[in-house]
Amino acid sequence: MTSLVHYPTASLKPHREASLLSGHLWIFSGALQQPPHWIEAGGLVDVKSSTGQFIARGYYNPLTDIAIRILTRDNAETIDTAFLRRRIRSASKLRQLLHPEQTNAYRLVHSEGDGLPGLVVDRYADVLVVQIHTAGMEHLRPLVLDALMEETGARGILLRNDSQSRRREGLEIEEPAVVAGEVPAQVLVKENGLQFLVDPWHGQKTGFFIDQRDKRAALQKYTHGARVLNCFSYTGGFSVYAALTGQETYVTSVDISAPAIATARENFTLNGLNPNEHTFFTADVFDYLEHAKSVGEQFDVVVLDPPAFAKAQNARVQALKAYRRLNMLGMQVLRPGGILLTCSCSGVISMDDLLDTLAQIAQQLHRPVQLLEKYTHGVDHPIHRVMPETSYLKAVFCRVK
Ligand code: SAH
Repeated sequence: MTSLVHYPTASLKPHREASLLSGHLWIFSGALQQPPHWIEAGGLVDVKSSTGQFIARGYYNPLTDIAIRILTRDNAETIDTAFLRRRIRSASKLRQLLHPEQTNAYRLVHSEGDGLPGLVVDRYADVLVVQIHTAGMEHLRPLVLDALMEETGARGILLRNDSQSRRREGLEIEEPAVVAGEVPAQVLVKENGLQFLVDPWHGQKTGFFIDQRDKRAALQKYTHGARVLNCFSYTGGFSVYAALTGQETYVTSVDISAPAIATARENFTLNGLNPNEHTFFTADVFDYLEHAKSVGEQFDVVVLDPPAFAKAQNARVQALKAYRRLNMLGMQVLRPGGILLTCSCSGVISMDDLLDTLAQIAQQLHRPVQLLEKYTHGVDHPIHRVMPETSYLKAVFCRVK
């Protein structure tokens, strides 16, 4: 069967279908026989082999190296609201694993990982925050918004098209805007039964770092009665989890953003903790660590969850230096036998890079490091089997002797 709608064709050069057939969702411009210049940026296309066989259907952008992103391999599947609803329904079903009565802040759609390239949807209780990263998804925007409202019954949708990556696609950077229903200034969410305030309008990323949920829970086994230092704390995700593990647990949270630290204090209160029994610093983490080291301060547990030091391949070397300096300082304020949780959300830094960094520092400081747990993101950030690009977060728990 073929779709009732007829789409224009983009033909591959001979023998260029292997990667597509393996499940990959991108076609680079060099693989196309004749770029379909007559199609507007973001337009839908059928991809055919050099011998004219239908292979897949996706959207095209002449401005980017990734010329086509695949939406379906089923010739009978028309790209319409019903198609989008099916994909969103399947994504929603997977997130039921998080038990919505315990956790109602999660990534509902993880772009290629959920078969919807260029679309990110984060759910905060009954509010959705949407990011559109590609011209093709922008083209489908009205259908996407309809499908999301129909499928999720959300109270409102906030569109946050403020990511710099849009420029590469020929798209404008936009101010956050409500595009369906209503969206309050702050949303109270649950994560593993704990409560957090999220500001979907001005918060970083879409408001909360939902990709750290599983690491926050994992941290709790190490923090009973511990002196914990949470670097780059944002609104206190790791801090709240740690502080809840015991009366004797004492948490220091450091972030450069004053509003984030103010919300961190509120999040302590929301979870029955007294923020005045803990410490909060609005400061540069590097400055803070240099100072803590110089006065000989020691912690039992140190969390390092920096922003992406490298967003592009050409920033890799600089970024590796920054990770090295940060982890070195982190270990220097960790007591012998203490626990380090170190993370990297830079796509161009691999798990091996992070482990190499730890190995180099261990050698330099003569502090043996035992690797205890390795993580990526949780089940709400599914990783596409043949697309490592859909995985960006690396996190390692280790004991530093
Ligand atoms: N661990 C957090 C997320 C961290 S995101 C959580 O679980 O929610 C990175 C954070 O680093 C942001 O809050 C940002 O404000 C902060 N930041 C960026 N550069 C910084 C610096 N040099 N010193 C301190 N904080 C910094």
